[in-house]
Amino acid sequence: MTLVRVERPADGVARLVLARPEKRNAQSPELLYELDGRLLEATNDASVRVIVLAADGPDFSSGHDLHAGFYVPCDPVATMGGHLDAGGVEGHYAFECESYLGLSRRWRDLPKPTIAQVQGRTIAGGLMLVWPMDIVVAAEDATFADPVTAFGVNGVEYFTHLWEVGHRKAKEMLFTGDSISAPDAQRLGMVNQVVPAADLEAATLDLAVRIAQRPAFGLRLAKESVNRSLDAQGQSVALDSALALHNLGHAANLARHGELAPTDGAAAIRAASRRTS
Ligand code: ZN
Repeated sequence: MTLVRVERPADGVARLVLARPEKRNAQSPELLYELDGRLLEATNDASVRVIVLAADGPDFSSGHDLHAGFYVPCDPVATMGGHLDAGGVEGHYAFECESYLGLSRRWRDLPKPTIAQVQGRTIAGGLMLVWPMDIVVAAEDATFADPVTAFGVNGVEYFTHLWEVGHRKAKEMLFTGDSISAPDAQRLGMVNQVVPAADLEAATLDLAVRIAQRPAFGLRLAKESVNRSLDAQGQSVALDSALALHNLGHAANLARHGELAPTDGAAAIRAASRRTS
């Protein structure tokens, strides 16, 4: 089954579409590695100059599919793996280094411009597909939330919150689990454009086509310059540090509840999601 569809809507533009709408594009390991494969193909295809990441259905992504389990379905691509099969937090930390932080980081740095085309809800792990993209175009109905303090952890594994929304709003979104609306996300600098839902695809494609006409190497150098500036600000080290604290949370859960992410946390998140939908 195809979980990520590839479209070529215009010269120079590849559109990768998350195609699991019946699960609100929840991210199973298979979906993550299929997406990685399609991104690698688009990166290696010289005729692709800009990559759009879009999603089928009413919501962009409901986050990691917690029913799918935690495993790497192929050879690791972002790390050397290392004791992925170790039990407890040791194995889980290796998994998150590879499949969560590792993939998001790899996608942030792929050497072509990327645009996220976002509608509906983006929850928790969903942010780890949106934030690594270079530009975000959102429909007016789009909302963004990281409610995973309900699981007793700090936030999602790609912890760029304060670069996305500033440190005050980052704390508010983490402490409350509340979602941020598309207009607020634009005001905070997390989203580039907000457009009516009916115009989302066309507006994103228009932007992609305009960017695709510019010199590819100039675009690559501009992207690398911005990303290296983020790292000079400490983003990369902050990400590693946050992932370590995140796994301290998982370790505490395991000791206290016998599971990495307590199931009552998932129930609380689902209830909150229904209230705001
Ligand atoms: Zn985790």
